[in-house]
Amino acid sequence: MKKDIVVVGGGCIGLMSAYCLQKSGRDVTVIEKGDITDGTSFGNAGLLSAFKKAPLSAPGAIFDTLKLMLKGESPASVHPTFDLHLFKWLLKFAASTTEARLKRTLALFERYGRISLDMYETMVKEDGMDFHFCKDGLLMIYTEQKTFDDKAAHCTNPEAYEILSKERTKEYMPILNEKVIGSILLKENGHVDPGEFMLELKRYLEEKGVEFLLNEEVQRLEFEGSKVSKIRTSKGVYEAETFVLSTGADDTLARQAKNKFLMTPAKGYSITFKMDDALKPKTSSLFADLFIAMTPRRDTVRMTSKLELGTTNPDVVRKQINSIHKNLSLYTNDFVKEDMVEWSGFRPLTPNDIPIIGYDENYNNLVHATGLGWLGITFAPAIGKIVNDVITIDKKNNTNTDILLFSSFYQG
Ligand SMILES: Cc1cc2nc3c(=O)[nH]c(=O)nc-3n(C[C@H](O)[C@H](O)[C@H](O)COP(=O)(O)OP(=O)(O)OC[C@H]3O[C@@H](n4cnc5c(N)ncnc54)[C@H](O)[C@@H]3O)c2cc1C
Repeated sequence: MKKDIVVVGGGCIGLMSAYCLQKSGRDVTVIEKGDITDGTSFGNAGLLSAFKKAPLSAPGAIFDTLKLMLKGESPASVHPTFDLHLFKWLLKFAASTTEARLKRTLALFERYGRISLDMYETMVKEDGMDFHFCKDGLLMIYTEQKTFDDKAAHCTNPEAYEILSKERTKEYMPILNEKVIGSILLKENGHVDPGEFMLELKRYLEEKGVEFLLNEEVQRLEFEGSKVSKIRTSKGVYEAETFVLSTGADDTLARQAKNKFLMTPAKGYSITFKMDDALKPKTSSLFADLFIAMTPRRDTVRMTSKLELGTTNPDVVRKQINSIHKNLSLYTNDFVKEDMVEWSGFRPLTPNDIPIIGYDENYNNLVHATGLGWLGITFAPAIGKIVNDVITIDKKNNTNTDILLFSSFYQG
């Protein structure tokens, strides 16, 4: 029997699309090649960090990265490769690091960050989902005087920022040593436990009748005229009114529909562990100069870092894990990390921090929802809403304001 909506990919973007479509009364099937417990949407830091935080493609990003590379503390690296696609991505990234873009991107982040935070709150308070969710700000910790002073000079709105001395910073993050300069609390941000969120969302969706086909890989899209007529999976063949592709950093299926999105997998790592409660960070924190995040969760703390381009090796590479520990240890006192769990995953990264959302330009029953890069958890609810709106209300891209504003189809 022909299905109504098939969502391919059960990461946070696929599940939030399913959530919004189900609320609009649509019948949704999610097809996922894994079991929804180990992907990028599970192992990330869980920062909800849309407010007052520069995008990756910010002015100065390249210079700052080179500086850290020289100090041996750089979180970013590019593996040697002859991949033309990656060269194009890097050129576009460099071209995107302008003041004009920064201004627009920050405004878009606030717009979609606000929608997302409100939706997270609704899921907890009205839908009764039980996941760790806090709206207590993001502490940006500075280890370089100049970056701290530059940032602090712009933090004039006391509703959005609190500038903290070294001593006050240590109250938030007791493990810090004397080398830390100070911090700025970006008050509007928050954090979730992404694994708890994903499992609760899946439970909720199942209860509402969303069908999950797990451990089933979609291998081929088949086309008839301007439509995707069916999809072939490792277990069967399905027809649907509409297909949503939310396969994260894996663009195999998008390419079958003749798309060559300027998106690249950006590998990152997390290390989750137990630590003394008295030493845990009081809120989610980011070492601004090192790109190391630390997020307190119910029983553990999660540390994330690294942004590797030019690799698709899924293994946890020891050298990278050691480098995260080493970089953190430069600015912290010794502390015990118990029951460490190491993980790696790939961010679906576009060169200008703008996602790929909306109807395919060749096939009119195919909708794309990916390219969220390092902010997928932050924006997943808003993206789910946009996917739902374009399918159920607008039915095409150019009458959906959010797609005009926040999709690579229009903001390339
Ligand atoms: C180290 C690290 C830290 C991060 N920290 C944060 C953070 O603090 N805050 C934040 O907002 N974001 C963060 N992110 C980014 C965030 O995790 C991602 O943007 C987000 O998870 C992407 O979600 P997605 O649903 O697009 O992709 P994914 O989570 O990758 O989901 C895609 C799914 O599609 C499935 N799939 C792929 N191909 C097929 C197929 N052919 N058939 C069936 N299924 C398929 C995959 O198995 C996968 O489960 C971080 C990422 C990393 C790596």
